[in-house]
Amino acid sequence: MNGTNPEIHYSLLKRKIIHIDLDAFFAAVESRNNPKLKGKPLIIGGSPSSRGVVCTASYEARKFGIKSAMASSQALKLCPHAIFLKPNFESYKNASREVFKILSTYSELIEPMSMDEAYIDVSESKNATEIAENIRKKIQNLTQLTASAGIAPNKMVAKIASDINKPNGIAIVKPHQVFNFMQPLLIKKIPFVGPVTTKKFADFNIYTCADVILAGKDFIINKFGSSSEWVYQRACGIDESPLETTQIRKSLGEEETFPKDIFRMEHKLFELNRIILNLFININKKNLAAKTITVKIKYANFTVKTKSKSYPLYFFEEEIIKKIALELFLEFKCDKEPLRLIGVSISNLIDKSEMKQTTLFDNYI
Ligand SMILES: [Mg+2]
Repeated sequence: MNGTNPEIHYSLLKRKIIHIDLDAFFAAVESRNNPKLKGKPLIIGGSPSSRGVVCTASYEARKFGIKSAMASSQALKLCPHAIFLKPNFESYKNASREVFKILSTYSELIEPMSMDEAYIDVSESKNATEIAENIRKKIQNLTQLTASAGIAPNKMVAKIASDINKPNGIAIVKPHQVFNFMQPLLIKKIPFVGPVTTKKFADFNIYTCADVILAGKDFIINKFGSSSEWVYQRACGIDESPLETTQIRKSLGEEETFPKDIFRMEHKLFELNRIILNLFININKKNLAAKTITVKIKYANFTVKTKSKSYPLYFFEEEIIKKIALELFLEFKCDKEPLRLIGVSISNLIDKSEMKQTTLFDNYI
């Protein structure tokens, strides 16, 4: 399997995604907190005398074939001198908080996957590898924990890559390498390809990504239905999914520069209403509520003025936004002055689902 694949959308290959994954996280935190445990086969999870399972095993324990989700009793059989510890989630949460604080200094676009794993979008940066190395160094210096990193143009490939040189390693897959990188991999390496899919494909002698490509997209769709097309896409190395960041944007706004300066007040109010309507549609789509409204105008001579108003309660209703924005706009007393731009934005945002019952609307209208 060689060369490039026409399925790949080259614009998406411009993304730079880092997947950071801490090594044997629970076990690493325990041996950091208690250095006597360093270098020992350590198992965090349920007790072997109960029906507990292994949450995390240190690399020393993994040498004995111990894996996450294995019964603790079986782990004890594989490694009778292993040290078993109950998880101390409070301690892991604190360590995780430290790590995410470090990550947040590199990008606002972070998708946490678990306590010890995250995607970071650094598409805007020149050198993603340097950033990943700096993140790993900083994590090690500030938390005494090691992390592995994968760097790729999408989440799936970054995740697979971060596993390659574990522990304490880094792997880079450049855009032109993505397709060939995927080919030798077993399809079960693709995130969300579970045992059922693996088995279905194995019945047709399809084991690796190269086998999927060789079978062809039409064959895959014919045999397994159109819902399996994504497996073909992933086998090509395609994953367009964006980062799902928890970060809420700081403000949301709409503004319009007019093709010609506008003079008449009715015209200004008409444009203001149109901008508010567009803003309102956006607020609704993003499910946001705000405490602050800002109205901005630019005069024909390019002077910019803004007026803001904040409230103690959240709002998102069109009536409220219209009313406040209009009041602010009228405060400019710009009836006679030509305008080249009007803008309205909201800030102090919150996801509507996190909002308490009472809104400004109940107290205002
Ligand atoms: Mg991990």
